[in-house]
Amino acid sequence: MNRFVFGPVPSRRLGQSLGIDLTPTKTCTLDCRYCQLSRTIHHTASRGLFCDPAEVLAELRHVLGEIAAPDWITFSGTGEPTLHAGLGIILAEIKKLGVAPTCVITNSSLLGRSDVRADLCLTDRLLPTLCTVVPATFERLHRPAPGLHLPDILDGLRLLSGAFKGIIDLEVFVCPGINDGAAEIDGLREYIRSLPRLDSIYLNTAVRQPLERDIVAASPEELLAFRDALGLDLPVATAFEHTPLPRRVDRKPPPPRQGILDLLLRHPCTVDQLERVLNLPGGILLETLQTLEREGKVHVCPDGQWRLT
Ligand code: SF4
Repeated sequence: MNRFVFGPVPSRRLGQSLGIDLTPTKTCTLDCRYCQLSRTIHHTASRGLFCDPAEVLAELRHVLGEIAAPDWITFSGTGEPTLHAGLGIILAEIKKLGVAPTCVITNSSLLGRSDVRADLCLTDRLLPTLCTVVPATFERLHRPAPGLHLPDILDGLRLLSGAFKGIIDLEVFVCPGINDGAAEIDGLREYIRSLPRLDSIYLNTAVRQPLERDIVAASPEELLAFRDALGLDLPVATAFEHTPLPRRVDRKPPPPRQGILDLLLRHPCTVDQLERVLNLPGGILLETLQTLEREGKVHVCPDGQWRLT
């Protein structure tokens, strides 16, 4: 069983994305009310060496030897990748492999730190999240670890967008009733206009039911209205503008049980998504899911997403 590397996962934004998860489940600087994984277990703003970079790189080399080259090697998973103090070393070593470009999905919370910004300058693509420029909304929505302050994050993202040479796609997670009011959108617009550079914006929402039931998804119309109100001269996509998921055809299927459990640890999925990612015949997939359900390891939610129990 791999400890750090998972996938490749077919992604609408990243094609075939091979994931790297650098932190223990679930270690995060934030405890977002819209999180789809779980409440944050290790809530910290302190960077650390959660695992040995050499072990991560050895596992990555091994996996890359078994699969076709992915479109992206993506740092994401069950927590915040910039918490790992060896992120820069790992990014530099992956660049030397010359197999695929790297992408870091970050909640932006540590961008006030110069060492984090220096590490991130070594990746090819950044997907930072920013949902609000209002401190009270930031606290309410994200429940940050002690020591994190929104003004530092906003300054850090501005500095990084000036220094970074790769692609920056900003994600805004829209929670109706929390960060979609006129004052919120006006503030975001002014802040985004103040950034030296940005390639695109992605308006996301709780398309999968978060664990906190009072968080609801924005409708397609609400996301389009948010986009219109932002009124930015940038490409802005929404979570409902679907391009088809790529299907992997050249990968040896993983052992069904382990493949399912590894994926659901990081990503609640429908049967269709599991089928695409794992490349398993539907019959084997359903049979394995039912066995795991009987064993109390997984369950299906009313929205059709399977999760670990
Ligand atoms: S930053 Fe991501 S992983 Fe962390 S709590 Fe928020 S949604 Fe969950």
